[in-house]
Amino acid sequence: MIEIQHLKKEYANATPLKDVCATIHKGDVISIIGPSGVGKSTFLRCLNRLEKPSSGTILVDGVDMGSKECDLNKMRQKMGMVFQNFNLFHHMNVIENIMYAPKKILSLSEEEAYRRAIKLLRIVGLEEKALNYPDELSGGQKQRIAIARTLAMEPEIILFDEPTSALDPTMVQEVLAVIQQLAKEGMTMLIVTHEMHFARTVSNRIFYLDEGVIYEQGSPEEIFEHPKKEKTRRFIHGLDGIRKDFTRNTFDYLGFMSEIHEFALQKRMTPAFVQEMERSIEKMYLHIVLPESEEETIVHFSFDYSERNPCGDIRFVWIGNPLKEEQVEGLKYTYNDSKENEIFLEIK
Ligand code: ADP
Repeated sequence: MIEIQHLKKEYANATPLKDVCATIHKGDVISIIGPSGVGKSTFLRCLNRLEKPSSGTILVDGVDMGSKECDLNKMRQKMGMVFQNFNLFHHMNVIENIMYAPKKILSLSEEEAYRRAIKLLRIVGLEEKALNYPDELSGGQKQRIAIARTLAMEPEIILFDEPTSALDPTMVQEVLAVIQQLAKEGMTMLIVTHEMHFARTVSNRIFYLDEGVIYEQGSPEEIFEHPKKEKTRRFIHGLDGIRKDFTRNTFDYLGFMSEIHEFALQKRMTPAFVQEMERSIEKMYLHIVLPESEEETIVHFSFDYSERNPCGDIRFVWIGNPLKEEQVEGLKYTYNDSKENEIFLEIK
């Protein structure tokens, strides 16, 4: 249905998409996941040409979206889009919002457009809101109306750009339920989402976007249970962290500790957790790494933090002589054939 070849999009200060290639089949429900700012939204906007790609080809049913012969309005009818912020017309009531494009673009009569709109309002469970204005609705209701409005153009594929991220948590489910119903009915959909549980249950394929490419893709089971690549795994497990390679003679210890502190604030760790983390890092560094490493030796530090079930792993790795047992009491310690010391502590 859609063939994406070497899609690239660059802005003046960023190149979110470097080389995206993908094939989307009829009936696919694909969740696009990945860290913020990697270009998920840009990817959707390039697909229906709200953004012009810098290079690459997008074929929809064999038609090149970038060619002069391509009727973009017609293609956009095939490819509906639902936005994070609903984008409803505030001066029109709900049913007028839904009837507007079918009348104007598909030339449906008033009566036909009305019948279609009522049917769709029933599908999204908001028939009784037909005469209300968008400002009188909750966020979840607005998003369900926005979905009805998209469906009114009878698209063959719907692109959802973080459809629940502007919603109060209590309203997320009602919107996801509508999308889930569409999936059951066989609608082809691409969904940018941060709702991992939803992505997992609704999709038949997952694209993990990172580094300007579809970094890893597969079935929900493959991506969520057995991600092949380290970055995917870290993302799936909600890990984020700090890495630093340094040598003792050039190490800015205070700068390092303030970076750690900054990270803790960013992640809103509890004061008790922060204290435990800082105390442990300090102890490991000052009592073990500092006296046991040579001045020029490269020391690899990492701290991996999981927000989902707050816990963190502190790790120092360097090449040197093996440590004594009493030095590493309370820590996990390994020494391997490459003379690599690794001290490790998990804090909760
Ligand atoms: P995501 O949806 O994964 O969070 P986006 O697609 O919104 O990421 O953005 C990807 C990158 O492209 C970001 O660095 C962002 O600042 C940049 N970007 C997005 N849209 C524009 C734009 N219109 N002009 C300049 N830079 C942009």
